[in-house]
Amino acid sequence: MLNIVLFGPPGAGKGTQANLLIKRYSLIHLSTGDLLRGEIAEGTALGLEAKSIMDRGDLVSDDIVIGMIASKLDNNPNANGFIFDGFPRTVAQATALDTLLKEKGTFISTMLSLKVADDELIKRLLERGKESGREDDKNEGIITNRINEYNNKTAPLKEFYSGQNKLSEIEGIGQVEEIALKLNDVIDKL
Ligand code: ADP
Repeated sequence: MLNIVLFGPPGAGKGTQANLLIKRYSLIHLSTGDLLRGEIAEGTALGLEAKSIMDRGDLVSDDIVIGMIASKLDNNPNANGFIFDGFPRTVAQATALDTLLKEKGTFISTMLSLKVADDELIKRLLERGKESGREDDKNEGIITNRINEYNNKTAPLKEFYSGQNKLSEIEGIGQVEEIALKLNDVIDKL
């Protein structure tokens, strides 16, 4: 199996690159952000609980996102592999993911981390907010909060995966296709 953690701050281009990678390598895309927005759209209890937290730009609880990922893994027993996008975002989530994959006899192959400077992230997210309708993309204060959450709780995961010799950092500024080639290159050398 090929199991990829696609990593980086909000606005780094994880979703865009994930869509290219799933086609090239026949993988299943698991974005916790998309899954949570799906719950909100369906009006589930979980969605209701998550919405106000997401609109503020805070992280939702580990239990919620770990539970969502666990059920997606269970529902796709014959997958070629998975791209984890926006998950894990805390050390607790990364540890839980390792355990879940181990139970299935597999493991994370690599972490691909996209590097983009904060001022570029803010510009991209405000631009996306004009069309996405996402509350968390509309306001610079909320965007800054998301970047702070990333720096405080999520960025330490680079050490978690580099400790397992799995971290590759890729410059996330440039043409989409150019960045995709760099990601493919890392994967093809695994
Ligand atoms: P982005 O990467 O652009 O911030 P996402 O769609 O990945 O967008 O996440 C949007 C919001 O969903 C986050 O700000 C957070 O509130 C919530 N969320 C998504 N994934 C997780 C996660 N793994 N752990 C906690 N909260 C999450």
